[in-house]
Amino acid sequence: DTIGDNFDRTVAAFADRDALVDHASGRRWTYGELAAQVDALALGLLDAGIAKGDRVGIWAPNCAEWTFVQYATAKVGAILVNINPAYRSHELEYVLNQAGVRMIICAPEFKTSNYVAMIDEVRSSCRGLEQVVVLGSDTWTTLLRTDGDRAALVDAQAQLSADDAINIQYTSGTTGFPKGATLSHHNILNNGFFVGELCNYTEEDRICIPVPFYHCFGMVMGNLAATSHGATMVIPAPSFEPRATLAAVQAERCTSLYGVPTMFIAELAEPDFESFDLSSLRTGIMAGSPCPVEVMKQVIERMGMREVSICYGMTETSPVSTQTRPHDTIDQRTATVGRVGPHLESKIVDPATGLTVPRGEPGELCTRGYSVMLGYWENAEKTAEAIDSARWMHTGDIGTMDDDGYIAITGRIKDMVIRGGENVYPREIEEFLYTHPDILDAQVVGVPDPKYGEELMAWIRMKEGAAPLDAAAVREFCTGKLAHYKIPRYVHVVDEFPMTVTGKVRKVEMREKSIALLS
Ligand code: ATP
Ligand code: MG
Repeated sequence: DTIGDNFDRTVAAFADRDALVDHASGRRWTYGELAAQVDALALGLLDAGIAKGDRVGIWAPNCAEWTFVQYATAKVGAILVNINPAYRSHELEYVLNQAGVRMIICAPEFKTSNYVAMIDEVRSSCRGLEQVVVLGSDTWTTLLRTDGDRAALVDAQAQLSADDAINIQYTSGTTGFPKGATLSHHNILNNGFFVGELCNYTEEDRICIPVPFYHCFGMVMGNLAATSHGATMVIPAPSFEPRATLAAVQAERCTSLYGVPTMFIAELAEPDFESFDLSSLRTGIMAGSPCPVEVMKQVIERMGMREVSICYGMTETSPVSTQTRPHDTIDQRTATVGRVGPHLESKIVDPATGLTVPRGEPGELCTRGYSVMLGYWENAEKTAEAIDSARWMHTGDIGTMDDDGYIAITGRIKDMVIRGGENVYPREIEEFLYTHPDILDAQVVGVPDPKYGEELMAWIRMKEGAAPLDAAAVREFCTGKLAHYKIPRYVHVVDEFPMTVTGKVRKVEMREKSIALLS
């Protein structure tokens, strides 16, 4: 299937059911109404000369129009280029030129971002950019062709094949400069569908999506999982707000809730968390970065998300490659990222030799199957570094696989610390620090050390009202529980960690700041 054909089938089956709810503005669309918007926009794109393979950029926080653009571009075969709403003009210019964007659709402004002004600033240096469409302005309303020629759309849709590139998504930029993963209909539609299958979605489900649409977590695991099952997409707010998310779950009786771990931590820490009625929740997904066992347990017990899954994946694999299942044991569901998904393969290799390691031993996780991207957009060299000749995607993540195929992620190769010749996985220490009653969140990084090569620094966020812990107190807490070489030498208490918009902790930045703090 192409995304457009799959969407049309859902519309035909569930025309009168809720498709999309924009909780912040109170607007809502049934599948029939959503299809009318999508088709009007698709016709407008065709009229504006946008054809199969053209790149159309979307630059906006989460909103209903983002979804219209997602499906309308898929129907005409234009390649949607997701642009991070937090980008500034320099990054925008890079993406517009790198992807060769012909039309950009943007929000006028949001928080401290004036999108229109930033586009004006770079326009003269982006020669391929022909059209700027601003949501809510005349350029947007004239693009919606309710009176257009439907035959032209049917014709355009019939020209598409499931293996065509349909989306360029930039990676989060956690470890360096973002790379543009080129994804096909087949890649992302199947991934959204199978994620939804393992969540047991039906048209009765209502999925609360506080994660950004610009990232695959929102647009694939959220939107495509929903539309391929006739389920409802609920947008709680333009960008993540814990209270708005809890309020949307309550008001819309959501059955599923998504988030990266830091989002769930923030929701659970809301002072009047207990006053929200979350009894409609059945399932959900936590993913994107290591999911602390303690937080998973609270999500199951305090949020009532009894069937919640952990997913693991990366933009380059559409994104999901492993997922926990509702019937897994509680340990499997909280301490592993589950087993490989349907029609996919995983293996753990020694990065030095490329050979599969024995079960239980750590190594680099590799993924193969339908979900592996076509490649990095116009970057054959980086593609060849990531995907080998047998089509295995080398993830850069360290993991282990047990005898039953359950995979646990210990961290990224780049985050591993080597202290006095011992490999230290920060994840293990972070999990332990979480068990301290006063610690809200913890991250551990390596800093250079003349004697041991590297030493550990723990960054800690304290719970509300708790006194800051010093290094001596943290070391005392760890002594006798962790091997001596895993005990952090330095402790730095902060209010917030440096984060990407996708809610990932930027360890690269933390490492730089840690070094500056010590010098
Ligand atoms: P960049 O590649 O630009 O440095 P990024 O890798 O963070 O950024 P994404 O594609 O958004 O960009 O994220 C994929 C990565 O997120 C994975 O490689 C892995 O490190 C991490 N990740 C995703 N899900 C999980 C999970 N459930 N547990 C642990 N880590 C996870
Ligand atoms: Mg990555």
